[in-house]
Amino acid sequence: MANPTSRHSKSRRNKRRANWKVDAPSLSTCTNCQEPKMPHRVCPSCGTYKGRKVLEIAE
Ligand SMILES: [Zn+2]
Repeated sequence: MANPTSRHSKSRRNKRRANWKVDAPSLSTCTNCQEPKMPHRVCPSCGTYKGRKVLEIAE
């Protein structure tokens, strides 16, 4: 099994993790109600996906 020869220092680990950043989630607009929604997901406000109703949204 491939194993690292020597352990990386905390400094090296922290330098690597210094470039981890969270970015704002990308949003697309619903083609049915024009509300912002997550791409590739059912619209939470009208319950449609690809122009088809998949969820009943309770008022
Ligand atoms: Zn919608």
